[in-house]
Amino acid sequence: MKKISICVPAYSEEDNIQALYTELTKVWQKDLSGYTYEIVFVNDGSKDNTLSKMQELGRRDERVKVIDLSKNYGKEIAMLAGLDHCSGDAAVIMDSDLQHPPELISKMVELWELGYQDVYGRRVVRKKEPWLKIKLSQIYYKLLSFISQTKIENGIGDFRLLDRECINALIAIRDKERYTKGLYNLIGYKKVSIDFIANERFSGETKWTFKDLFKLALDGITSSSVKPLKLAIYAGFLMLIPAFFYFIYTFVRALSGKTADVPGYSSLMIVILILGGIQLISIGILGEYIGKIFVETKKQPPYFINKKNSKL
Ligand code: UDP
Ligand code: MG
Repeated sequence: MKKISICVPAYSEEDNIQALYTELTKVWQKDLSGYTYEIVFVNDGSKDNTLSKMQELGRRDERVKVIDLSKNYGKEIAMLAGLDHCSGDAAVIMDSDLQHPPELISKMVELWELGYQDVYGRRVVRKKEPWLKIKLSQIYYKLLSFISQTKIENGIGDFRLLDRECINALIAIRDKERYTKGLYNLIGYKKVSIDFIANERFSGETKWTFKDLFKLALDGITSSSVKPLKLAIYAGFLMLIPAFFYFIYTFVRALSGKTADVPGYSSLMIVILILGGIQLISIGILGEYIGKIFVETKKQPPYFINKKNSKL
């Protein structure tokens, strides 16, 4: 029998663990009895009783693995830890808050059996999210697709089934500043999408603050493309061209005997400010890349596990 691993990153989700476990068990009995499975719970430094809920399930059910990260590393790293420690022929990554409908797994498995290696969920409607958040994320994905070489669509997230080959490829990439959505495209393999309607959160609140989302958005751009570096160069040239003509103009004017306007202060000031702005932005972008190089060259392991609490 083929084995499917369900990888679930969870950060302070104490009220969702049992519910998700129950749903998954139901789905298995109903549609997936031809497959064995394991559930790999990754506790991402939760501040509540998530870990003990996981461990309790781990004691009762040998198919439940528990990985306790030593602190909160964020979802991207938690997913990596899950994939590292799963042993299935395929893995399904899903959120712990039941927003990703477990019933969809059997459809994903069907497509996997047809030879697809990366069956990804596409969220077609967002339920009950602030209008601004929806709009901003639409704009962001357009921008991201434009800037990065690969197309990353709005609504496509981490809810997906990955064949063992994809898992091995993903875990071979040890980036700590991970942007997994970009990595799925980077590794390639045969992909197919499957539409789903996201449920509302079963319990608790979203763990993403605006700051987290902004960081993820920035990581998405700088880790999947070096285009922003080039953009700074283009912007620089764009400024240089009018500056050059302005120089010619003043030079010719000086040759024809006219002295320079003494006031001229405002134009000078504007040029200085604009150039200063561009330089600052460019330095910022450089800093972003250099920061990444700095972090990666340290070659630290991306995470540590609390072996005592984990059940591997
Ligand atoms: N998550 C995590 N570490 C974090 C933040 C979130 O493992 O630092 C998990 C969280 O427990 C959930 C999934 O990532 O299973 C998605 O998080 P959330 O539901 O808060 O995000 P949203 O659905 O609002 O995008
Ligand atoms: Mg959620």
